[in-house]
Amino acid sequence: MDLQLRDKVIIVTGGTKGIGEAISRKIAGEQGIPVFIGRTPESGKKLEKELRDAGKKCYFIEGDLNVPGICEQVVRKTLDKFGTIYGLVNNAGRNDSIGLENGSPDAFKESLNSNLNHYYDMAHFCLNALKHSGGTIVNISSKTALTGQGGTSGYAAAKGAQLALTREWAVELLPFGIRVNAVIPAEVMTPLYQNWISGFDNPGQKLKAITNKIPLEKRMTSSTEIASSVLFLLSKEASHITGQHLVVDGGYTHLDRSIT
Ligand code: NAP
Repeated sequence: MDLQLRDKVIIVTGGTKGIGEAISRKIAGEQGIPVFIGRTPESGKKLEKELRDAGKKCYFIEGDLNVPGICEQVVRKTLDKFGTIYGLVNNAGRNDSIGLENGSPDAFKESLNSNLNHYYDMAHFCLNALKHSGGTIVNISSKTALTGQGGTSGYAAAKGAQLALTREWAVELLPFGIRVNAVIPAEVMTPLYQNWISGFDNPGQKLKAITNKIPLEKRMTSSTEIASSVLFLLSKEASHITGQHLVVDGGYTHLDRSIT
């Protein structure tokens, strides 16, 4: 299947590691042009070199999306280099465990800033370019928005808001033919996940308990499987899909209650 993403410029926030890296790689694999944003220059430059050495076009922009003004700069740098933006994948985020009891109003606000605000800012500053290109947006949310997790109010609130914004933007952008969808992962082994699981007393046991509850094949979802869903939604193969929340989790969120 030709996803028709050749030479399409697609920004992937947090596109240098984990799920974002898998998305960047898949875009490059389709001869699209991933523009990946991350805070760690080593991982961004390494990925950029690897893809360029393989004959792919790509661009790494170093930046912390929590810092005011960065999102506008990222969009400007992308337009200065390529003159167009076809896609935005809002992906950067971190489960920072700011709970109700083990949190504070300031920490909650900071969590919203680091998990939610840049989703809006990136979409806002990309909008004109997306109108010109007839482009599309995919927001990466989390199953915590649907199930809760406990002890992570800021992250869960941000992830829920991303789903609301997916519908809201899908409606607002109908007149421009800009489709907006969300992908919802649950359990994907990435640097973020590795860090989270290592916080338990017995990470191996905890991981086994989690994967045992994943209905399809009792395994975690791979970053590549998440990326494949994102690529489909970015592509013209999804040309009549907008405002959708696609849960890619081996049935973890919706099937577990029906299985004994
Ligand atoms: P990850 O392994 O930590 O990768 C996240 C990437 O985002 C990193 O490249 C990181 O860059 C970047 N990033 C984070 N905050 C940033 C900021 N403020 N500015 C610039 N870059 C930033 O995370 P992941 O597991 O792939 O998660 C990706 C998305 O999937 C997140 O939205 C997460 O909520 C969602 N998700 C993941 C899972 C899972 O099981 N892994 C489940 C549900 C939802 P640096 O390392 O350079 O800072």
